[in-house]
Amino acid sequence: MKTSVVEALEKVLAPNQILVNEAVSERSHHIWHMDKPLEAVAVVLPKNTEEVAEILKICHAHNQAVVVHGGMTNMVGSTETQREELVISMEKMNQMEEFDEVSRTITVQAGVILQDIQEMVREKNLLFPLNFGAKGSAQIGGVISTNAGGMRVVKYGMTRHLVLGVEAVLADGTIINSLKKIIKDNSGFDLKQLFIGSEGTLGLVTRAVLKLLEAPTSRNTAFIGLESYEQVIALLKYVDAGLGGNLSCFELIWNNTFRGMTSPPAQVKPPLPYDYSYYVLLESLGNQPEADRQLLEQLLVDAQEQGMIEDATMAFTDSDLNWFFKIREDVDVLVNRCRNDQHFDISLPIASIGDTLNKTLARLKALPEVEEVFAFGHVADGNIHLIVGKSEETPELIKAINQIVYAPLQALGGSVSAEHGIGVHKKPYLALSRTSAEIELMQLLKKSMDPKGILNRGKVIDV
Ligand SMILES: Cc1cc2nc3c(=O)[nH]c(=O)nc-3n(C[C@H](O)[C@H](O)[C@H](O)COP(=O)(O)OP(=O)(O)OC[C@H]3O[C@@H](n4cnc5c(N)ncnc54)[C@H](O)[C@@H]3O)c2cc1C
Repeated sequence: MKTSVVEALEKVLAPNQILVNEAVSERSHHIWHMDKPLEAVAVVLPKNTEEVAEILKICHAHNQAVVVHGGMTNMVGSTETQREELVISMEKMNQMEEFDEVSRTITVQAGVILQDIQEMVREKNLLFPLNFGAKGSAQIGGVISTNAGGMRVVKYGMTRHLVLGVEAVLADGTIINSLKKIIKDNSGFDLKQLFIGSEGTLGLVTRAVLKLLEAPTSRNTAFIGLESYEQVIALLKYVDAGLGGNLSCFELIWNNTFRGMTSPPAQVKPPLPYDYSYYVLLESLGNQPEADRQLLEQLLVDAQEQGMIEDATMAFTDSDLNWFFKIREDVDVLVNRCRNDQHFDISLPIASIGDTLNKTLARLKALPEVEEVFAFGHVADGNIHLIVGKSEETPELIKAINQIVYAPLQALGGSVSAEHGIGVHKKPYLALSRTSAEIELMQLLKKSMDPKGILNRGKVIDV
């Protein structure tokens, strides 16, 4: 039987923009759970901002809870649904609306895929630098709503630093248009920031103006083997200073993770032997191809002579470059090695990572149910990812593992989420990263912007 909300929505949307019954269960809530039927009262597929506003006006009037679906690549359960919720899927809002070569901006609808933006602007010799493994599925609206980071934050910052304007629709259907191309705007509160990183709880992002940069003409990459975490820290400072602002990626991979990423069934080979405790994937983006390559090569030769690194190899062709990055980006290879995978995305001061992770990894491996622990991450940003595989999936075990990973963070001034967000899975641990006054302010904002609590209800914070 149709609910009154669905009947009201049918009056403002075309038949192919509203899915019910089997058409709903043919979908899923996450790209890694495509076999799990989606549960929802309906899925609606708006094509423009005005339709989003109409949908939300109706939902607001009917007190209908909605869940926003972007590319469904988040890692924190934030696109999970309840049977009585309505899904607003942004996939049909996939237009790149305006490219401005002079302002170096692109204006896009929220459902455009990140990789499509990267490729489009590359043809114009410009760069949209956000880069991470899920780029082929993640939509820019989801990327903005999670304030995604990825592998080039060390040089270009997170999504927040690359968004000049946002258009969003509030829970009651009000359109907030902050779609400006300007870099500086101190005329009152910077409202767009409310929608960046708030995981769809304060408004639905419909369009955005993204900041583009001149494309680099040189890209050099190396894999480096190191024996100690002290060497990792010394190398980071050394290459950051030595590359004169060109260091764009500095990813750390623990030995067993490197093995997992580069041995069968993984389809890529290791570029270095399995002899080292740590591996760093380094990238430098510059504008003097020959000189940039020689500079990195010389820095690595000198680093080895000084005993700062054990081994290194550089990518010399495009195919080498793709190989090196595929190793780091193809996280699915690690996930497939795990039963009952549990994911972490913690932040902590760079100086504390070596010791803290040693202790955390030892404590996790001491649990008899834990079968695999893969550690890797954006170490230059103080951000480490862990994937834990285990023989069981009981709530007690999940909690025990969470406690081991999160226990050291508060005292170190760290965070339970560096970039993936809070969603559902990390909600019980938010207070480890935020003070009670901060959480109260978040609740106040949520209540004033979405008084009926219809947007992504139960995600991030309770109100
Ligand atoms: C293999 C892999 C690698 C990853 N690597 C990284 C990484 O390095 N760095 C990183 O930061 N993340 C990473 N992620 C996580 C994920 O890709 C990002 O969080 C991404 O930004 C989510 O985009 P999405 O379109 O898939 O959003 P979804 O998963 O669909 O949604 C995420 C959240 O945003 C909300 N939302 C989606 N669209 C909108 C909208 N238009 N308006 C309002 N709310 C919306 C959803 O309701 C949900 O709360 C990775 C994920 C995978 C699977």
